[in-house]
Amino acid sequence: MKELLILGAGTGGSLIANKLVRSLPDGWRVTVVDRDDKHIYQPGLLFLPFGDLRPEDLVRPRRKLLDPSVRVVLAGIDRIDPENKVVALDDGTQLTWDLLIVSTGTRVRPDQTPGMTGRYWRQDVHEFYTLEGATALAHRLEGFTGGRLVVDVADMPIKCPVAPLEFAFLADAYLQKRGLRDKTELVFVTPLDGAFTKPVASRALGGMLEQRGIHTVTNFSLSDVLEDEKAIQSYDGRKVDFDLLVSVPLHGGSSAVHDSGIGDDMGFLPTDKHTLQSRDYDHIFAIGDATDLPISKAGAVAHFQGDVLHDNVMRWIEERPLWAGYDGHANCFIETGHGKAMLIDFNYETEPLPGKFPLPGIGPFTLLAESELNHWGKLAFKWAYWNVLVRGDDLPMDHRMLMYGKRSA
Ligand SMILES: Cc1cc2nc3c(=O)[nH]c(=O)nc-3n(C[C@H](O)[C@H](O)[C@H](O)COP(=O)(O)OP(=O)(O)OC[C@H]3O[C@@H](n4cnc5c(N)ncnc54)[C@H](O)[C@@H]3O)c2cc1C
Repeated sequence: MKELLILGAGTGGSLIANKLVRSLPDGWRVTVVDRDDKHIYQPGLLFLPFGDLRPEDLVRPRRKLLDPSVRVVLAGIDRIDPENKVVALDDGTQLTWDLLIVSTGTRVRPDQTPGMTGRYWRQDVHEFYTLEGATALAHRLEGFTGGRLVVDVADMPIKCPVAPLEFAFLADAYLQKRGLRDKTELVFVTPLDGAFTKPVASRALGGMLEQRGIHTVTNFSLSDVLEDEKAIQSYDGRKVDFDLLVSVPLHGGSSAVHDSGIGDDMGFLPTDKHTLQSRDYDHIFAIGDATDLPISKAGAVAHFQGDVLHDNVMRWIEERPLWAGYDGHANCFIETGHGKAMLIDFNYETEPLPGKFPLPGIGPFTLLAESELNHWGKLAFKWAYWNVLVRGDDLPMDHRMLMYGKRSA
C-alpha cells in the first residue's frame, strides 16, 4: 500500500484529502494527521468579539468533514524527517510516506513580543485570532465603556491581512450602536506604509479609515508592550498608548516545520510558487498558510491552490511533468460595518481592481467598493466553507484570476 500523508486537517489539508481520496489509483491510502478533532471556521473569529456569532457556531468535528475513506490520526506532529520519509508524532508513533503534503498552517505567537502575555493579557491586551482569544475579547468588549482602543498588527505576514482592518471597521459600527463611539478614540496601527499591502486597495481602505475617524499609525513594527505605561512601542522607539489593545500577534509556521529544520527563518516551507512542490524535496508538496509564497495567507488561497495541487499529485504519481498552474489567485470579502462589505480579487501579478465579480457586468459582487450584497456574500461564505469548500467540491469560480469584469483603477 502506498501512503499519501497529509499533515494538518484545517482548510487546505481537509479539502485536498477529500479531493484526492476520490481520484487516487488503487493501492494508495490517504492519511491525515491533526492534533485534535476540532476544525474551526477561522473567518468567523472576526464576528465573535461583537456577539454576532458564538464559539459553538464555529467548530465542527474534523472527521465529519473528511471522506470516510480518509484515515484520521489525532496526535501532535513532532518532527518531519524528509531524508527517511518519516513523521514522528508526540505519542511516539512514526508514520511513513510515499508522498507528503504539508498543510500545517501558521502559529500565532503572542509570546514572541515582550510584555504582550504579561499582566494585562486577556484583560486589556487581547487578540481575536484564536477561539479562546476571540471569546475573551467578546467579554471585554461587553464591559467596555470607552477610552483609547488600539487595533495593532505586530508585523507581517499574518493570516487574512484584511482581518485587522475589518475589526477596526466593525468596532467603529459596534461602538456607534452602543452609543460609545464619541467616548472612544479608535487607532489603527500597522507595520505597512498604508492600510493594506497593495497600493490601489490601500488607498481605498485608507480613505475608509479616515472617513470613520479612525486614526492610522503606519510603519510601526511592534517591539514591546510596555506594561507600566500601558503603551505599545515600535522598533524605532515610537509609542502608542492604549486603554484596550487588540493586537494581531506575530505569526510563524508550525513547530512541526520549524523544529524539523525544513522551513525558512519563520518556519514556512520553501515552496514552488506555481507547482506547489517543495523547493527542496520532490516527494513533498504544500498548500495554504504553511508555504512561504508571496501571497495572502487565506482560506480562499488554499481553495484555489487545491485544484493545482490535486492535478500535480496525480501527475507526480503518473510520472508526468508538473503543471505550473497556480497564479497567486486570492480573494477576500472585507466587512466594513453597517451591513456592508467590499471584495478584492488579485494574484501575484495583478493588484485588486474595480469591477464586478464573478460575472462581468453583472456581479452580483462589487470589487473594491462597498455593497450590501458583498456583506451577504461574506455571510454565505460560512455555509459554502462547511458544505462545499472543505469537502473538496467545486465553487463556481476559476482557480486562476480572470480579468473579465475588471477595469483599471
Ligand atoms: C480572524 C481570521 C479571519 C479570517 N478571515 C478569512 C477570510 O475572510 N477569508 C479567507 O479566505 N481566509 C480567512 N482567514 C484565514 C484562513 O482561515 C486561513 O488562511 C486558512 O484556514 C488556512 O488554511 P490552512 O489549511 O493553511 O491552515 P489551517 O486551516 O490553520 O490548518 C492547519 C492545521 O494544522 C494543524 N497543525 C499545525 N501544526 C500541528 C502540529 N504540530 N501537530 C498537529 N497538528 C498541527 C492545526 O491544528 C490545523 O488544524 C481568517 C483567519 C483568521 C484568524
